[in-house]
Amino acid sequence: MNAAERERYSRQILFAGIGERGQEALLASHAVVAGCGALGSFHAAALARAGVGRLTLIDRDYVEPANLHRQWLFEESDAAEALPKAAAAARRLRAINSGVEVRAAVADLTAANAEEVLGGADVILDGTDNFETRFLINDFAVSRGIPWIYGAAVGSYGIAMPVIPRRTACLRCVYPEPPGGAQPTCETAGILNAVVSAVASLQVADALKILSGNAGAVQARITTLDVWEGGIRQIEAPPRDAACPACGLGEFPYLEESARAPVTLCGRNAVQVHESERTLDLAVLEQRLAPLGEVRANEFALRFAVPPYEMTIFPDGRAIVKGTADAAIARSLYAKYLG
Ligand SMILES: [Zn+2]
Repeated sequence: MNAAERERYSRQILFAGIGERGQEALLASHAVVAGCGALGSFHAAALARAGVGRLTLIDRDYVEPANLHRQWLFEESDAAEALPKAAAAARRLRAINSGVEVRAAVADLTAANAEEVLGGADVILDGTDNFETRFLINDFAVSRGIPWIYGAAVGSYGIAMPVIPRRTACLRCVYPEPPGGAQPTCETAGILNAVVSAVASLQVADALKILSGNAGAVQARITTLDVWEGGIRQIEAPPRDAACPACGLGEFPYLEESARAPVTLCGRNAVQVHESERTLDLAVLEQRLAPLGEVRANEFALRFAVPPYEMTIFPDGRAIVKGTADAAIARSLYAKYLG
């Protein structure tokens, strides 16, 4: 550490849990922020300010005006230019801390690129918006022995849980399968920025413990909180499940590209997402989507306009996204409106 770094991080070094040794470890560490939206842009900013030496960001989306109330790194100009979130975040992070090496991937995190993006991480922070990707992160992290921190927020409610392979329960110990049906999302249930920063802060605190050489200080706990109703609750995470497919049996199906809900092109300008695992109640979904745009439903299908796209959603969980031939856009819209 040089004199400028010693001064820059002096207040963090003074904190007994970090010290000079911890700061040296942070400067030599590598964190991956998976998903660079509300949670992820907070993670990235906090870790860059803390002096984490290398940051890898991955995100498939573009900055929109409706992101700005909760996505800390982005500005009006990013939305006006519709910049990819990973690229906009990287630019801002370099301005916040030029000493940090930032790598940005504008891509959908999949089994095909997981090794390239997540490999070599000392910790992975979950800033994703769907369980399919979280199960992929869990399989990758558990199989490689990399700690990762699960986090999610919607409305005024949030949850966070660290996963330390071989020591704590993994995500599949807690959720053996992804939840079924349409999940509430930020697009359908709204979100307060205060819960985003609260959940993201819990995740960052655990990441700082891990990266500074204090992984033993990470508690195997699930934290839930509601910043509107009040209340923060911590419960001991369940013990590791010997029958857990991932950390118990060592099966990692999400690392196989075929485990993913496949997408196919239909015609020149539409993509079908074949999600077969969930049954949807179209009447409930119609009520949820009605405030957001034009929606029409019958018992066979629901049609929802999200200009410049249109989604047709079926009761067996399939959806056709018209207006694009890009699988990443189709998956992104699916996650936004169905969870
Ligand atoms: Zn497990």
